[in-house]
Amino acid sequence: MQVTVVGAGVSGLSTGIRLLENGFNVKIMAEEISPNTVSDTAAAWWYPFLAEPIEKTNRWASETFNELLNLKNQTKIEFITMRLGREYLMKKCDPPGWSLELPHFRILQPDEIVQDYSFGWEIEAPVIEMNLYMPWLLSRFEELGGTLELRKFKSLEDVPGDLIVNCCGIGATKLCNDDTVIPVRGQVIYIEQDPGFGRFDQQPDTLTYTIPRRDVTVLGGTAQKGDWDENIRNEDTEYILKKCEALWPELDRSKIVGTAVGLRPSRYEIRLEKELISDKTIVHNYGHGGAGVTLSWGCADEVVKLLKNQ
Ligand SMILES: Cc1cc2nc3c(=O)[nH]c(=O)nc-3n(C[C@H](O)[C@H](O)[C@H](O)COP(=O)(O)OP(=O)(O)OC[C@H]3O[C@@H](n4cnc5c(N)ncnc54)[C@H](O)[C@@H]3O)c2cc1C
Repeated sequence: MQVTVVGAGVSGLSTGIRLLENGFNVKIMAEEISPNTVSDTAAAWWYPFLAEPIEKTNRWASETFNELLNLKNQTKIEFITMRLGREYLMKKCDPPGWSLELPHFRILQPDEIVQDYSFGWEIEAPVIEMNLYMPWLLSRFEELGGTLELRKFKSLEDVPGDLIVNCCGIGATKLCNDDTVIPVRGQVIYIEQDPGFGRFDQQPDTLTYTIPRRDVTVLGGTAQKGDWDENIRNEDTEYILKKCEALWPELDRSKIVGTAVGLRPSRYEIRLEKELISDKTIVHNYGHGGAGVTLSWGCADEVVKLLKNQ
């Protein structure tokens, strides 16, 4: 069966690969490809952030965790590394549901909590270097026989074929007239300094992170709802650095080597469902907020299930 996937971000490419592995013929059609998608700016730490509904995202996150580990250990992809990260919280709370599935999760000791926080946990999770992972996804897709065409659509009715998977991210505001999709602007800084372990405060209002990769550490962040500005803002750079310095006082500003901005495709819940438009079956897979990488393989598998049950 022939499927057209709209979008070549992490959602479109992972879905395209899974469809090919399950015997479908796949063409991806997208306005932009790597390095010009939102996915290319993802930090990218495995962590379910700004994505709903929890019952489903916990499952998709856990499935993706296992696949990323598999890619690291079996396929020997060196740009996925396992790193320790500590999440700091203002108040004590129950461990998140997804933590039950993790090989390493522990509550921090009082002397491990940084100033102004009172609780926290440590996990070990995949860090994905998107500058290398996105081209790898694309070449894997083509190796399996998938084809790619650059094209922008005004309407899903214009997309060729009867079976369509819609992975258009923030593009859904126009392509699907979906006004529940809202950009949540994220700015990041790259620094050539390793903090040892990642430090996190992932509450949207105080969002702070230091994500160690092999080449750089990614410093964040901002979560500015409804903000479409894709320019770097100096005041945001300063705001991010101040927050990161509070969690990581050794941060050395002279080692900063770059910055980036992306618009997270936020929605009250991920839209992963089938819709019939005229004679076309569309499976939507968009609205992954701050967790598109974290949920990518779980969502891709769900799309395959929906298309197989046609
Ligand atoms: C600063 C920042 C940090 C982040 N950190 C993390 C992290 O640590 N972990 C994590 O899991 N996630 C993270 N995210 C979130 C993650 O980047 C997104 O959830 C994810 O990239 C969404 O992927 P996508 O494939 O759905 O969308 P996109 O990457 O935006 O891809 C959409 C695709 O659809 C195409 N398209 C759109 N409209 C049309 C149209 N009309 N016609 C044709 N093609 C169209 C686009 O050209 C593109 O190819 C971060 C995001 C930001 C901005």
